[in-house]
Amino acid sequence: MDWTDLMSSREFEPVVANVNVSKRFKCCDCGKEYTAKHNLQSHINYKHLQHEKKIECEYCGRRFTESRAHIRHLKNRNACPNSPWPDA
Ligand SMILES: [Zn+2]
Ligand SMILES: [Zn+2]
Repeated sequence: MDWTDLMSSREFEPVVANVNVSKRFKCCDCGKEYTAKHNLQSHINYKHLQHEKKIECEYCGRRFTESRAHIRHLKNRNACPNSPWPDA
């Protein structure tokens, strides 16, 4: 196949027609579909990862989604009686 054959055969490929159908990114957790990968990633970050409570208080066992909330909790003696942190 020479250069002209390659160019002419490319023109008949039906790729352009189903661009909208094929470019889908599906969330494996809830099945929601997005056309852009970064949209799916922000969906996963916002909808799924945030609800995963990763940080556990070593003094009372409570769980938190972010370290900021954990620190706020440690500074509050009423929330965490075993906390070694001084009252803020
Ligand atoms: Zn999802
Ligand atoms: Zn605690």
